[in-house]
Amino acid sequence: MFEEVPGAIESKVLDGLARIATVMKGETWQVAGEMGLTPTQVQILKLLHLRSQEVVRMSEVARELSVTPATASDAVGALIRKGLVARTLSPQDARAFVLTLTEAGAAQANRLVQWPASLLEAAGTLAPGEQAAMTRCLIKMIRSLQEQGQILPARMCVNCRYFRPHSYPGSNTPHHCAFVDAPFGDRNLRVECPDYERAEPQLADRNWSTFIRAQSQSDSSL
Ligand code: SF4
Repeated sequence: MFEEVPGAIESKVLDGLARIATVMKGETWQVAGEMGLTPTQVQILKLLHLRSQEVVRMSEVARELSVTPATASDAVGALIRKGLVARTLSPQDARAFVLTLTEAGAAQANRLVQWPASLLEAAGTLAPGEQAAMTRCLIKMIRSLQEQGQILPARMCVNCRYFRPHSYPGSNTPHHCAFVDAPFGDRNLRVECPDYERAEPQLADRNWSTFIRAQSQSDSSL
């Protein structure tokens, strides 16, 4: 009855993620509707919030959201007319525009980046070990999508130049973040970090090998 059909387990995992994504999308639509925003406009406000310390160009918005430049331009134009986003010439390149949140845009973005209580409650039903395992699983899948060129490199620890995986073997907090100069465990691995800086490809590959190798060893000892 439970004989394995090739791909069946993978499909089941994706079915589960799709169920959760449906709730996330529904919540986003609801908040977006209350604010009079489209989902693309919501994503742009969230992006500018997360990158508030950086220069964000128009071309990056399209790439980050995986939409066409025309779609990104329309959505940004609407946000500018609503007074939520400002477009100014780049101080580094007089031919490029950079985007920032206005005060009103920052206030809306602050609300948008809060996850709804129902989803936080669902994530909170996981035990600490399950949360750590889930975080590792998601990071693996996100990295695979990066490798396939389906998404841009995420701002997560395993891509970051400050990440020192398994610096303290055998500890509950085996990794080290050189940005804050502190150890941390798998539960605190970030998938969207405001302090992230992209690692050189060689360092990212080396870190990934260390991260995965130590993981396989601890899994095989279970
Ligand atoms: S700066 Fe952020 S992404 Fe980089 S290692 Fe530290 S916590 Fe992770």
